[in-house]
Amino acid sequence: MQKLIVAFSLCVSLSLLTVTSAFLSPLPGITSEAHRRAAVWTNNEISLNFPESATFRAAITSDVDITSVVLEYGNEQQTCGEVIAKAFPQFEPGKTVNAEWIWEMRQSGSLPPGAQLWWRWRVVDANGNETVTETKTATWLDNIHQWQTMNNGDSQGVHLHWYEGDQSFATDLAKAASDGLLFNETQAGLKADAPIDLYIYANTNELQEAILYEPSWTGGQAFPDQDIVILGISSSDLDWGRDAIVHELTHVLVGHLTFSCLGDVPTWLNEGLAVYSEGELDQASQQQLEDAIRDDTLLTVRSLSAGFSEVADKAYLSYSQSYSITKFLIETYSQDKMTALLIALRDGKTIDEALMQTYGFNIDGLDDAWRAAIGAQPRLVSPEGAPTAQPAPTFVPTIVPVGGVPLLPQVTATAVPTSSFGQPTATPARRGPPIGLTLILLAMCCVFLVLIGIVILGFVVRSQNRKAGNNG
Ligand SMILES: [Zn+2]
Repeated sequence: MQKLIVAFSLCVSLSLLTVTSAFLSPLPGITSEAHRRAAVWTNNEISLNFPESATFRAAITSDVDITSVVLEYGNEQQTCGEVIAKAFPQFEPGKTVNAEWIWEMRQSGSLPPGAQLWWRWRVVDANGNETVTETKTATWLDNIHQWQTMNNGDSQGVHLHWYEGDQSFATDLAKAASDGLLFNETQAGLKADAPIDLYIYANTNELQEAILYEPSWTGGQAFPDQDIVILGISSSDLDWGRDAIVHELTHVLVGHLTFSCLGDVPTWLNEGLAVYSEGELDQASQQQLEDAIRDDTLLTVRSLSAGFSEVADKAYLSYSQSYSITKFLIETYSQDKMTALLIALRDGKTIDEALMQTYGFNIDGLDDAWRAAIGAQPRLVSPEGAPTAQPAPTFVPTIVPVGGVPLLPQVTATAVPTSSFGQPTATPARRGPPIGLTLILLAMCCVFLVLIGIVILGFVVRSQNRKAGNNG
């Protein structure tokens, strides 16, 4: 009898083992290495239909039917937190699979020319084996223009890309860029930590064709999260172009230094630094600023924090004032304090807190000190002592009258609609059962088998006892 029980237990254990391994084999990660066979890619490519879409294609073969195909993709940029976009292309399960997925920029938001796209494929076969390709990258750029790149870009902190104009045109702009970077580093304490890519379009129209959703007057744009600046500069606009390059580069530097998921840089400071980096104000802007000081029509610093007016005159004055305020801060209190102010903003302080911590006054205190320094009338304060209410300026992409070319304005949209996270367009992936459910089923199966075993044992023991009783 003892032998029989041992034999039966062994049998149950063996059958359980068999059931267990049969049950576990479809689970990814539990199969033995011997069963693992990687899928093979016979094609893995991207084709760009700039600026509309990027199409990813893959041809995959495997010894076992492929049951899940997922595309992971994105573009390289500074982000708050790691989010990986996944797409689930439609495909016919089988040993050979062709998958295709289209990244529609009109749905996800336009990427700047020069953005670095990346992608990888993740497939699972019917045995649960998962294979992931290496991550590949491609540059998001048109193939219409014959782009050239200045080879000495690294040493100058910029890679200048252009397609119209001769070598001296490009050299001229590259020199303006490197002078601007040097000025920012020595005068404002702003340093590039990686080369910045400058894409120079032949004119504003061709620039606008390269980006979706931009206002018709866009002359240039900075993308600090991606170290990219794009501008439309013709050879007849070189003066404007030099200043515009420095202006936009400064936005990239400010964006980098202050990048965080907490803080925000007020418009007057961001634009003030950008205009300051261009050098002295042009004559017309200087005159407008002096008129406003004389007529006591200066805007309050607080009203310049969120955005600039849509009204052209007010917008121009906003830039000139921002320049003057920033110049006052840097030249009165040193560039180190400016760096400290920017870092306080990066760390999530409000502008009032950051100013107070760095200089010992808030925005209104800054307004008062600045007005005194430039010989303007004191700021109007209401009888109760509260700051005078000013209509909030309309938030619009800011226009910079760079270099005194009034009809070729400049946008400095530092916020960019970025890629497209989580846009599965087709069927969800087919996956194996959840592991929790599988384990519960497994446990129930074991209990069931043990119960059957006990019942059979009971019968066997009873019949043996009966036999023994009969024999006895
Ligand atoms: Zn700007």
